[in-house]
Amino acid sequence: MDLGTANTLLYQKGKGIVLDEPSVVALSEETNSVLAVGSEAKRMHGRTPEGIRTIRPMKDGVIADYEVTNRMVAYFVRQAHKRNNFVRPKMIISVPSGITAVEKRTVIESAEMAGARKVFLIEEPMAAAIGAKLPIDSMHANMVVDIGGGTTEVALINLFSTSYCESLRVAGDEMDEAIQRYLHKERQLEIGIFEAERIKMAIGSAVPFDEPRTVEARGRNTVSGIPTTLELTDGDIRDALEKPLRAIVQSIKVALERSSPELAADVTRRGLVLAGGGALLHGLGPRLHKETGLPIFRAKDPLTTIVRGTGMVLENFKTLRRVCVN
Ligand code: ADP
Ligand code: MG
Repeated sequence: MDLGTANTLLYQKGKGIVLDEPSVVALSEETNSVLAVGSEAKRMHGRTPEGIRTIRPMKDGVIADYEVTNRMVAYFVRQAHKRNNFVRPKMIISVPSGITAVEKRTVIESAEMAGARKVFLIEEPMAAAIGAKLPIDSMHANMVVDIGGGTTEVALINLFSTSYCESLRVAGDEMDEAIQRYLHKERQLEIGIFEAERIKMAIGSAVPFDEPRTVEARGRNTVSGIPTTLELTDGDIRDALEKPLRAIVQSIKVALERSSPELAADVTRRGLVLAGGGALLHGLGPRLHKETGLPIFRAKDPLTTIVRGTGMVLENFKTLRRVCVN
């Protein structure tokens, strides 16, 4: 399981990916019962009738709302159960590197409550490296940059372990919030968070497109309160994304500075691999190359790299058990 801030994915041994849903839950405020989970709950966000609220129980890569996370995980595991029949499965779950022992315990308990028989944890950058088919057994280091919803993880992987990792709380969500702030300040337009995400996916970029692009943003004027539609250009959104992008560039530079000269030289030669949904931002690779001079590669299908890497550990458990951290 890749239990992400934005998306949760399940991979089943011998089958591949059996579930891929947003990590969102809709709850009744009165009875506290779960009304919808996943894409249905995400669609309800911002348009729920009174008495219903939508929650993203994961924040900054870790469990923020324990109760709701447990219910979401149980729901997803049950969903996958319905279509396949695994009984009390062994589970491997990817977690951000550098989460605390308490946070690890919480993830394990959540999976056990959902019916897992035995739970193993793998750090996300390691799962990303395996999913991207990097030679993790090599003594030469590979750099992995996983840009998810809540966090960007920059890691160096070699000899089956993580020799450096830094987690930055700037990733996809922060980009969405940056778009919201920009439109509020520069265009007096207030928009919802998923509208900001839609705009980012439509015309967000780190370097200009060949042809200029525009998109309609729907929101409300911050002064008059009147519902308004504005046309935005890719240049507007690039301005809005400048600060989060700079933070990501900076964390890569810091990683090179803080690792040993030998490992830094490996990365200079071999480059870095981008994974996570943020890797899909238009022009991110060229922009990172321009600012760091490193060769940049994007993992194939970056939204599923981590769960596929975690799945490969499950499929080859005897040889890869050692990359698990518990
Ligand atoms: P997590 O592991 O935290 O669940 P994911 O790896 O699933 O995160 O990535 C989700 C993030 O990727 C979201 O912030 C989403 O907006 C972003 N994303 C997805 N597709 C694109 C795209 N085409 N352009 C820019 N960002 C994208
Ligand atoms: Mg992730």
